[in-house]
Amino acid sequence: MNIRFWGGARTVTGSKHLLTSGKQRLLLECGLFQGHRAEAERINRNLPFNAREVNWCVISHAHIDHVGNIPNLVKYGFRGPLLMTQGTAALARLLVEDSAHIQESDIRYLNKKLREKGEPAKEPIYTIKDAEESLKYIEGMPYAKLRKLGPFKVVLHDAGHILGSALVDIEVEGKRVLFTGDLGRRKMPIINDPVQVSEADYLIIEGTYGNRQHGDYRDVDTRLAVVVNRVHARGGRIIIPAFAVERSQEIVYTLNRLRQNNQIPDVPIYVDSPLASRVTEVYRNCPQYYDEDAVAMLNGHKYLFDFPGLHYVETVEESKALNVSKEPCIIISASGMCEAGRVLHHLKHSVGDPRNLVLIVSFQAENTLGRRIVERQPIVRIYGEEHPLRAEVEVMDEFSAHADHDGLIQYVSSMNVSRLKKVLIVHSELDAATALVEPLKSLGVRDVVIPEIGEEHAL
Ligand SMILES: [Zn+2]
Repeated sequence: MNIRFWGGARTVTGSKHLLTSGKQRLLLECGLFQGHRAEAERINRNLPFNAREVNWCVISHAHIDHVGNIPNLVKYGFRGPLLMTQGTAALARLLVEDSAHIQESDIRYLNKKLREKGEPAKEPIYTIKDAEESLKYIEGMPYAKLRKLGPFKVVLHDAGHILGSALVDIEVEGKRVLFTGDLGRRKMPIINDPVQVSEADYLIIEGTYGNRQHGDYRDVDTRLAVVVNRVHARGGRIIIPAFAVERSQEIVYTLNRLRQNNQIPDVPIYVDSPLASRVTEVYRNCPQYYDEDAVAMLNGHKYLFDFPGLHYVETVEESKALNVSKEPCIIISASGMCEAGRVLHHLKHSVGDPRNLVLIVSFQAENTLGRRIVERQPIVRIYGEEHPLRAEVEVMDEFSAHADHDGLIQYVSSMNVSRLKKVLIVHSELDAATALVEPLKSLGVRDVVIPEIGEEHAL
């Protein structure tokens, strides 16, 4: 048996890990690579393996860097099934369709430019039709139920990362291989804590925040209430760039609780992202994934994602009207790193006013507008125009959906470490992964590797 890492190795995007036993192949994840345009396009357009030879694909959760390239997998000959939890399946359908719409509209824009230069037109990385075709191969499965896939016995456990996220526990050739997907954190809102799996011979673990520590989510209510009250007192607006999946719902859920406890004033709150609204509908329909607190709220006849003063903005006209209005309010909008989407319009109209505040609630990658806002650069470019950044900027990393350094080490230390033959760190920049190596070895793990793209390891 061996595993070959075709993405999400020494980088955090494009996860694809191919597990082979004899002639049977199980693909873990089929994510989109995100990065500089030309490189991303080249990597995403071509699969590095023969899709026809892949027998099964298991997806850990519905983030685009884990599920976003299934249309090409099917287009190049994979015939399923694509296995994931029912929650992931519901979210993946929305995300993959949305991604196909983005690919098509991006290429229309690009082709217009190419035509002007007299250059040949390009095809999208995948089309809406490709996406629809691939979705037919999705099969939802519950947690903790064994599924036999040829020589592989697969069980999914809650990873506590986003709704429906899973750890993939595989038994093959008498050995156990545990793949964490993206590992969540304890005590996060809405969803349950990650399930602790104790036994494995090989562990493939993510290391996104291998070199960082997060603030405690239990401090969120106090911090967020202080921010909302401060900005409200001076008549300003709060703009929250947020990912459409999980982060938008967590913010709404947290603001809902603050409102119920009278910790924040009666200020209007808008969710202005059509994708976030559709994702929220999936969250409403999946109470089977809620934690105790969320279930208690539901049993108290309180809605989790709806309360007086909260509005889901649908049309472009409503969104534009919100831009020009000066009423103090809170706007939650995508994209999470301020690279596209309606949040750009809100930022454009808000960053110049010192009464306003931009609240950053997720990781902002280098070279994104979100990162420049975090760095409090005096001038930021939005839609090619320069805008002075006079609004206050507040960063709250308490919402992170990934285990931090201590969380990752603690997860491994709670396993039967003497059984672990090897730990392979994926989904991580090299610095972050390296920071995990010595702490893992001092737990008694014999062999820790940080595989490179294309590298194969015998298991
Ligand atoms: Zn993720």
